[in-house]
Amino acid sequence: MKTHYQVLIIGGGTGGIMTAAQFRRKRPTASIAIVEPNEDHWYQPAWTLVGAGTFDFEATRRKESTVIPAGVDWIKDKATVFLPEENKIRTEKSGEISYDYLIVSAGIKMDIDALPGLREALQTDFVCSNYLDPRKTYRLLKNFKGGNAIFTQPTTPIRCGGAPQKIMYMAEEYLRKHGLREKTNILFATPGSVIFGVKEFADTLNSIIRSRKIIFKPFYAPVRIDPVKREIIFKYVNPNAAIDPNSLNGNLGESLNDQGEVVMKYDLLHLAPPQAAPDFIQSSPFAYQDGPNKGWMEVDIHTLQHPRYRNVFGVGDAAALPTAKTGAAIRKQAPVVVGNIIHLMEHKQEAMQQYSGYSSCPIVTGYGKMLLCEFKYDNVRDSDPFLKRFVDTTKEQWSMWILKKYGLPWLYWNMMLKGRM
Ligand SMILES: Cc1cc2nc3c(=O)[nH]c(=O)nc-3n(C[C@H](O)[C@H](O)[C@H](O)COP(=O)(O)OP(=O)(O)OC[C@H]3O[C@@H](n4cnc5c(N)ncnc54)[C@H](O)[C@@H]3O)c2cc1C
Repeated sequence: MKTHYQVLIIGGGTGGIMTAAQFRRKRPTASIAIVEPNEDHWYQPAWTLVGAGTFDFEATRRKESTVIPAGVDWIKDKATVFLPEENKIRTEKSGEISYDYLIVSAGIKMDIDALPGLREALQTDFVCSNYLDPRKTYRLLKNFKGGNAIFTQPTTPIRCGGAPQKIMYMAEEYLRKHGLREKTNILFATPGSVIFGVKEFADTLNSIIRSRKIIFKPFYAPVRIDPVKREIIFKYVNPNAAIDPNSLNGNLGESLNDQGEVVMKYDLLHLAPPQAAPDFIQSSPFAYQDGPNKGWMEVDIHTLQHPRYRNVFGVGDAAALPTAKTGAAIRKQAPVVVGNIIHLMEHKQEAMQQYSGYSSCPIVTGYGKMLLCEFKYDNVRDSDPFLKRFVDTTKEQWSMWILKKYGLPWLYWNMMLKGRM
C-alpha cells in the first residue's frame, strides 16, 4: 500500500468525490487518494422527496466503489488524527499516510445527544427526521390521523438549511389531499427570525405560509423533548423582546412553564437534529478553538485554504463558511480548491481563485412545485443568469420540480461526480 500521495482527500461524499474527479480531469498524472470508511455513497438531496413518498430511497444510494474516479486510490479507512506539522494523517487501520496537499471533506455529525430527549423520542412513532431516516418520515405521515404536526430545526448550523421546511410544505399538501388538513395544526418553529434569509425568496414563502394557514413561530429554539408526554420545549430567543403570552396558541396546547419556556404538544414532530463538525475535526488543529465557529474547520471563506497550514483546504459541510451547507455549494467550491492547489503546485504561489459563497436551496413547496433559491455570501440572490431569462425562480414552478426530481439526480451521478460540471 502506498503511504504518500500528492493529494489526499478525507471523505468520499459529495465534496470528496467532486474534488477528486475534477483533479483527475485537470491533472491526470497526479497521485490522489480518498480516505473513506463507508461502502455506500448517498444522494441526500432526494431524501426530502423520499420523506414525502415520491422518490425511491434505494435510488439515492450507490456503491462507493462505483463513484471513486478511475485512477484515484480508495483507502477504505477512517482518518483519526491530523498531523499537519508532518503533513500526515493517522488512520484507524492503515497507519500513517503523508501528503503534499490535503483536502478535508468529512461532512457533518448528527449530534443527536445535543438535544435532550431526542434519542428516546426517535424511538417512538411520533418523531422523525429526513436527516436520519426519510423512510420513517413517510411512514409516520401515512399513519398520521390529525392533531399537531410540528416542524422545527436546531440552533446549530445544519446541512441544507431549507430541508426542515421543505418537508413541511410537502406534508401540508399530503394531508390536504388525504382529507386531514382540517384536523391538523401545521406549525413551523425556528430559532431564526425569518422564514428564509434572502428577501426575494422569503416574500414568496411568507405568502405560501399565509395562504396555507401554516403557523410560523420565529425565535423558537428547541431545548428538549419529553417523548412520554409528547411535548417539545422551546426557549424563546428574541434578543429584543420577551415572549408575549397572548401569542401562545391554545389549539396547539402551547403554554409557558415555570422557567418561562414554551411547551408544545405534538402528534407528529419532524426535526433536523443539532449538527456539528465530526469529532476528529473538532479536536484537530484545523478547527476554530473558540468563538461562534468553534469546532468547525477554519478556512479562508474565499480561497478555502487553511490560514496557517497553507497546503490544507476544506470543502463542504465541515468547513466554517457563512453560507448554506449544500451539495450545490460544493459544486462551486470544488473547482476553487482544485484550481488553487494546482496553482500552488505549479507556481508555488498563494491561492488565487475565489469562492463567492454560492449555495442553492431547491425549496419544494408541494408535489410538482418548487422555488430554486440561489444566493451567495451576505444573503444576496445569485440566480443562474441563463435560467433567469426563462424562469422566475422566486415563484413556485413546475419546471423546477422536474429539475429537482429528475434533472438534478441525473446531473449529480453523471456530471458532477464525474468532474464534468
Ligand atoms: C434531508 C437533506 C436534504 C438536502 N437537500 C439538499 C438539496 O436540495 N440540495 C443540495 O445541494 N444539498 C442538499 N443537502 C445537503 C447535501 O447533501 C450536503 O451538503 C452534502 O452531501 C455535503 O457533502 P460533504 O462532502 O460535505 O459531506 P458528505 O456527503 O456527508 O460526505 C462526507 C463523507 O466523509 C466521510 N467521513 C466521515 N468521517 C470520516 C473519517 N473520519 N475519515 C474518512 N472519511 C470520513 C463520511 O463517511 C462521508 O462519506 C441535503 C441534505 C439532507 C440531509
